[in-house]
Amino acid sequence: MKIRVKGIKDTDKLGRKLGELVEPGDVICLNGDLGAGKTTLSKSIGLGMGVDDYITSPTFAIINEYEGRHPLYHFDVYRLNNGEELFDLGVEDYFYGKGVCLIEWAENIEEFLPENRLEVWINTTLDPDEREIELIPYGDRNEFLARELIK
Ligand code: ADP
Ligand code: MG
Repeated sequence: MKIRVKGIKDTDKLGRKLGELVEPGDVICLNGDLGAGKTTLSKSIGLGMGVDDYITSPTFAIINEYEGRHPLYHFDVYRLNNGEELFDLGVEDYFYGKGVCLIEWAENIEEFLPENRLEVWINTTLDPDEREIELIPYGDRNEFLARELIK
């Protein structure tokens, strides 16, 4: 399922919509090159979840936690090289916990991801403000989310 977003406003709309739909246990994987818009989309998802704090890139912290309608666990696993570091973070408690996980650079830890997840692949286009966003849902719940998003 692919969506073309014409500019940052469209990206924001999509993110907020997803933020309104997510429930505890949902795992959203954000992939795409540096500057594709993973953090930008995360901010909008957070706004849709009612997070008041300003969401920043978790690149150095690896994980930031926020309180919204549900807890939000915002990961950036760009700097992780192996699974051991993930287990040190107690990642299973987050993935199968009481909150929503957003994982930037999820492709880096593919073998550790929960089977049921929504993958969001953000691709840049020739137009600097436009993005092509591909949704790959795993499981019924995520298929539902993807279908709602492309409506
Ligand atoms: P990443 O987290 O993937 O490295 P960022 O979200 O930090 O990317 O940066 C994306 C950059 O691209 C921001 O400067 C943002 O303003 C810009 N941008 C331009 N158009 C869009 C769009 N349609 N969607 C998302 N970001 C966009
Ligand atoms: Mg980022």
